[in-house]
Amino acid sequence: MSKLPHIPTSIFSVMSQLANEHGAINLSQGFPNFPVDQRLLDITKQLTHENTHQYTPMAGLPSLLEKISQLTYEKYTRKTDVATEILVTAGATQGIYTTINTLIKHGDEVIILDPCYDSYEPSVLVAGGKPFRIALNEDYAPNFNRIEAGITSKTKMIIINNPHNPTGRIWKENEFEALETLLEKHPQIVLLSDEVYEYISFTQPHISINTRPKLRERAIIASSFGKSLHVTGWKIGYLIAPEKLMQEIKKVHQFLVFSVSSLSQHVIASYLDIVDFDAIAKMYLQKRDLFRSLLEGSRFTLLPCEGTYFQVVNYEKISSKNDTDFAKELITHHGVATIPISVFYEDGTDKRMLRFCFAKTDETLVAAAEKLRRV
Ligand code: PMP
Ligand code: GLN
Repeated sequence: MSKLPHIPTSIFSVMSQLANEHGAINLSQGFPNFPVDQRLLDITKQLTHENTHQYTPMAGLPSLLEKISQLTYEKYTRKTDVATEILVTAGATQGIYTTINTLIKHGDEVIILDPCYDSYEPSVLVAGGKPFRIALNEDYAPNFNRIEAGITSKTKMIIINNPHNPTGRIWKENEFEALETLLEKHPQIVLLSDEVYEYISFTQPHISINTRPKLRERAIIASSFGKSLHVTGWKIGYLIAPEKLMQEIKKVHQFLVFSVSSLSQHVIASYLDIVDFDAIAKMYLQKRDLFRSLLEGSRFTLLPCEGTYFQVVNYEKISSKNDTDFAKELITHHGVATIPISVFYEDGTDKRMLRFCFAKTDETLVAAAEKLRRV
């Protein structure tokens, strides 16, 4: 009776639980352990005394929709229609799931670039669609020859994730151009662009689908306030899409959640007036550089980290164990929890690599690195 017979409990739950059981420093699941901005907490305290407790309109609190629209204009110079093109979701996860389950029907094929974040494939499977993984290049760049070869008359969607979890790679201008050229030939394909790390790019400014007129007219873009504002537990994000797609997505959204937690919507609507996204990007850059420099004295080999708050390392100089076993050993023997990279691959191929989350206090990073240098 299962729709997901081969899908295990998410690695993020497994590793965080193991970290807790063994008292390990948790650099596995992607969430910050530093305090949220005091000004966000102050707004929260003020607002909980007001009438902020009942359902908001289905698509989102009007003031929040307005702020998202302003933000999208300020950051990407894209004009959006507040009434028809924005939907507040219970995290990007629900936005992605709802998009897929709205637009994908039984037998439709969905191209997913491999390795990838864990929620895409199960969402396609629940919809009755066929996930079709296409390997990224060695350096995690998209391979357009392979993507083109993978397109059939049944292909209805391509999912991209930029900046990329787990590798931190960022798409380059010429790759968007190649995608535009490719999709021009396939009008039936919609693009789902997961941009939850849009504010965490280090090596070049993030290029959003919001800035690509040829792509955005057929794209659904997923963002996450959980990721951008360090409140992953609030489970709040949003989608932007052209009206013809969004009106269908809203039909499903209204029966999945109807509307999203009113408190977080009220608080974030006010907080967006004062938040400084550039400061957030700088803070993560400093953390990336700190963590990388701390690991320099270790036997781990660091891969490039262009964006996101994840650092991938290769450990083949240390162990010949597969990554899942080695990740468990790191927890039980060395007190640091990580994510084995094989879980992001369709076939679970072991690459002797691990992902560390560096969205942590400097003290946590220093303490973890001290342990890692002894491995
Ligand atoms: N996409 C990617 C690439 C992620 O890493 C995550 C994890 N936050 C999500 C989507 C889900 O975001 P949210 O927590 O807002 O549901
Ligand atoms: N996106 C987070 C990560 O990659 C985890 C989200 C979750 O726990 N589902 O670690």
